[in-house]
Amino acid sequence: MEKVQANISTESLTNLKAFGQKDLEEFVQSLGQPAYRGRQIFKWLYEKDARTFEEMTDLPKDFREELRGQAYIERIEPQHLDTSQDQTVKALLPLSTGRKIETVLIPDIDERGDARRLTVCVSSQVGCAMGCRFCATGLMGFQQNLTPGEITDQVRIMEDLAQERYDMAITNIVFMGMGEPLLNFDNVSTAIDILTHEDGFGLSPRRITVSTVGLARRIKKLAVEQPRVNLAVSLHAPTDAQRSAIMPVNQSTSTDLTALREAIEFYTAETGRSVTYEYCLFKGVNDSHEDAQNLADVVSWAPSKVNIIMYNPVEGLNFERTPEAQLHTFLETLVERGVTVTVRRSRGDDIDAACGQLAVKDEA
Ligand code: SF4
Repeated sequence: MEKVQANISTESLTNLKAFGQKDLEEFVQSLGQPAYRGRQIFKWLYEKDARTFEEMTDLPKDFREELRGQAYIERIEPQHLDTSQDQTVKALLPLSTGRKIETVLIPDIDERGDARRLTVCVSSQVGCAMGCRFCATGLMGFQQNLTPGEITDQVRIMEDLAQERYDMAITNIVFMGMGEPLLNFDNVSTAIDILTHEDGFGLSPRRITVSTVGLARRIKKLAVEQPRVNLAVSLHAPTDAQRSAIMPVNQSTSTDLTALREAIEFYTAETGRSVTYEYCLFKGVNDSHEDAQNLADVVSWAPSKVNIIMYNPVEGLNFERTPEAQLHTFLETLVERGVTVTVRRSRGDDIDAACGQLAVKDEA
């Protein structure tokens, strides 16, 4: 069980939502119970969203009593919800440490006002150590990793909201909120197991996307340990010199474009899946005709598609949004080169919920 870092309260109780199913089995066995009791608890916690041991009616009464003395069920609740003009919702969620995270629900609404798709953008860390120059979360620095329960609670909260507002379940989960998910690998992987387990949230792994800044070794680990989820790589620049200037992670030879290429080739060979590249356009930085040509070369390494993101300026950072005319020229070049490309428009930028804007201001 040592792979999951449990939150221990001041009374030394064990946080059961720091655990996946196997860890729960080991935990109950350490209390002298059969492993299947751990599976029962798993179902109560994640499928039935139990908040107390009293609700776990198929556990013996004396075991429930013992659990009360040994463990607790952590649950995060929204402190504040903001809804943007385009119906994107940002939730501010305080953690037990007093730090806060943000989670975003992004509805894709059709002409009649019905939701076609409901995507939850979850955070995996408080702040982020990667320090990308254009990102508000990067400005916070790294503060803490989230436990599996803190990750899955974000989904639960947005699932409840989706049911309330749209009478519909969430359809997609993207690890694109605060933090670099592959730097909190074990907890993110356990959260994915919980989200996709039939006794957990029962979601299809095809609906889950893990987005990374491009940590080569951990992309390979993901390919081996979670081959069924989608991979998105934040590329944002097509040459080492340009990428290193805006993304410090690229400055190491273990995570530069050469290392990334090798990792992507491994990923596609291992999983048989294509990769999505995120490419945020910054005016005068990475949006020239030559940049588009270089980008087409980079993404031809392996089966892929490119998501072009229109930047939402962050206060205090010196990046601007690329004008529409330049966007069109850039897209034309990519399409001529046979690149599969889509454009992601700003969502929720009036409530600072868009890509790169997540940062808990009163914590920073
Ligand atoms: S863009 Fe992602 S990886 Fe880079 S600093 Fe922001 S949260 Fe971290």
